[in-house]
Amino acid sequence: MTKPLTSPILPPAMLGILGGGQLGRMFATAAKTMGYRVTVLDPDASAPAADFADVHLCKPYTDRDALQQLVDTCAAITTEFENVNADSMRWLAEQGLRVSPSGDCVAIAQDRIAEKTFIRNAGLATAPFLAILNAGDLPDDLSPYLPGILKTARLGYDGKGQVRVKTPEDVRYALSELKHQPCVLEKMLPLVSEVSVIVTRSRAGEVVSFPPAENEHANGILDVSIVPARIADAVTARARDMAMTLAEKLDYVGVLAVEFFVLEGDELVINEMAPRPHNSGHYTLDATLTTQFEQQVRAMCGLYPGRTELLKPVVMVNLLGDVWGEDGSEPNWEILMTAPNSKLHLYGKKEARVGRKMGHFNVLAEDANDALEQARAIMETLG
Ligand code: ADP
Ligand code: MG
Repeated sequence: MTKPLTSPILPPAMLGILGGGQLGRMFATAAKTMGYRVTVLDPDASAPAADFADVHLCKPYTDRDALQQLVDTCAAITTEFENVNADSMRWLAEQGLRVSPSGDCVAIAQDRIAEKTFIRNAGLATAPFLAILNAGDLPDDLSPYLPGILKTARLGYDGKGQVRVKTPEDVRYALSELKHQPCVLEKMLPLVSEVSVIVTRSRAGEVVSFPPAENEHANGILDVSIVPARIADAVTARARDMAMTLAEKLDYVGVLAVEFFVLEGDELVINEMAPRPHNSGHYTLDATLTTQFEQQVRAMCGLYPGRTELLKPVVMVNLLGDVWGEDGSEPNWEILMTAPNSKLHLYGKKEARVGRKMGHFNVLAEDANDALEQARAIMETLG
């Protein structure tokens, strides 16, 4: 590309990130590799990103002094944490900082009602859903949404805050169990598979997408991502198109993850989005020229997105705390560490708990099925 950049932010500028979990950690390593400096705002003293940050502001996301320090020291701000306070993001933008994604986009992604309504209004397919602000609003006929899943509008993740419902009585009971929070009732669809697409959109409006990942979950948590996804080329193209359209309609700047359901007859519906890099994009750490975290740096700094094509088929496996011993002992890393085509990424979390994301590994091979077989074999050796 030869087009000149308009006021890019260049190293060694300080970049600020709200949230210091593993996504913030991988953002920080990408930014530091490129010569930027990083400030992390996260109230957790042992936030994984702090290991790689120049400055760790160990304060709440709404702390005025901490936010003021970001204004005083940073050239641009991003987030890794979906439930970050959208008003903090808006306030930082009002102070003249470049904030991406915008507080408005973050607010849409945080609320399933706003999110699904936006997607539908953008002309993109969702599962049939009903927004329920309070139980008194329920229409007489719920049959278009049953059997279904009731999901809290806010703060659900990894399958939490969801109840499967078959009858209108189930819906009423589940609403009271969920303390009458705003919810969406969504029709249960017969899924052939699940895929996700990670999009990067620059300040100038260039938009690129990574190849779709095919995602398998275990107990509601992402287990394995397979790339290329085992779907027809036309479906791959359509998923990438839909994800990029969504980013455009949102006037999004930054990295946006879009999750899809693949249905019978190659029908695609959008399930949800995340306003940040995504677990299913960790394959880009080893299998594409640009990682999703470098894209986040590039987008916030006003640079062009990097190349996204897959260099080699890859499978990403999540390492949950379940693999650690009950006494906290480490898994047996020997085979994983000696396999020449596998790459271990650990997040530096001190305490392993069941279901906690501790790290992941990528296995690269000549084709995705081969990578999957090797990844499964390695998983068996961990303990
Ligand atoms: P979370 O925010 O917890 O990831 P999701 O809405 O993505 O919540 O739901 C978690 C998982 O539950 C999905 O990945 C999918 O496997 C299943 N699921 C969710 N909604 C539906 C649906 N409408 N039909 C079938 N399966 C669904
Ligand atoms: Mg999900």
